[in-house]
Amino acid sequence: MLTDGLPLLDQHCHGVRDADLDRAGFELLLTEADRVVPGRSPFESMLGVTLRRLCAPVLDLPRHAPAEDYLARRAALGWREVSRRLLRASGTTTWLVDTGLNTPPLTGVAELADLGGGHAREVVRLEAVAEQVAQRGVSAACLAAEVEREIRSQAANAIGLKSVVAYRCGLRMPDRRPGSGQVDSRAAAWLSGPDRRLRDPVLLAWLVHLGASIGAELGLPLQLHTGFGDPDLRLHEADPLLLTDFIRSTVDTGPTLVLLHCWPFHRNAAYLAHAYPHVLVDLGLTIPHVGAQAAAVLAETLEIAPWPAVCFSSDGFGLPELHHLGALLWRERFGRLIDRWLGEDVLAATDAERLVRGIAGGNAARAYGLGGEWP
Ligand SMILES: [Zn+2]
Repeated sequence: MLTDGLPLLDQHCHGVRDADLDRAGFELLLTEADRVVPGRSPFESMLGVTLRRLCAPVLDLPRHAPAEDYLARRAALGWREVSRRLLRASGTTTWLVDTGLNTPPLTGVAELADLGGGHAREVVRLEAVAEQVAQRGVSAACLAAEVEREIRSQAANAIGLKSVVAYRCGLRMPDRRPGSGQVDSRAAAWLSGPDRRLRDPVLLAWLVHLGASIGAELGLPLQLHTGFGDPDLRLHEADPLLLTDFIRSTVDTGPTLVLLHCWPFHRNAAYLAHAYPHVLVDLGLTIPHVGAQAAAVLAETLEIAPWPAVCFSSDGFGLPELHHLGALLWRERFGRLIDRWLGEDVLAATDAERLVRGIAGGNAARAYGLGGEWP
């Protein structure tokens, strides 16, 4: 298949858990739910069966090894060796790592690259920067200037910016940056209130617009979480179509906007990429979770998205199994889809080659300015 052996650029992921995990700890990282209750093991899901099928052989077990055997072998090898094996066997050579969520503790950017035997670059999460500034102590009048200074400072070593505004107030975003009077009064309310988490929609809109303009200025794409995630999210507020006004307002001035995850709104995201030339679509998180249905989701995305706008990622978080499965399923399921399309004369071999290489990393390499580092 055309996808075999192709190096991958994982354009959105996180570190792996730097400790050995018991069954409860492992299962909690194998689901987007915030708890695992008896009778609802995440091993009994598309993700769980795919993990046993594709990850077990990397740990010297037969395909479909039972969950108990898998966890026992994992414990015997230790998290470091398991991470090394799974990351290296994914064929990923570059990881773009969101460092904004570190509970439970995860490996840093350099350690992930070291374990995986590749390169890794940092993506800075805007909400985490704003919360760090608030945590250090700042007056309401200085918050905006301090946050901007800190974003610029962290962006100097980063490859991209990211927002999780979907989790905080939803994606319905105004088409312009809120003015300073409004920002200062909301800052006063946030800083004097009990909640350290930034959830104020005006401050968040200000932050995302600021991120977009800094991204445009420095040539850093802005990633936006869309679609499913943990129960912190209201899924109906995470439809990327809610970003339409924001996307329109940045079409001439903004940075590249990368819509992450997208499921079940991947067709909506594909439409936005179709309509707006600065929008990219990514199916990280989706592919590992939908398992054998990955080809269906990819095919639905490619119905309308321009093909140079689609990017691979795993959204691996905590478990190196997730980084591994994102890559393996993409190769297996997308490879078969392309073979079928070639068989049905949907496209020529040169078109297929271009499509596969673009999604594997070429499209992201262009967006993030990694062209020189990417084959
Ligand atoms: Zn993520």
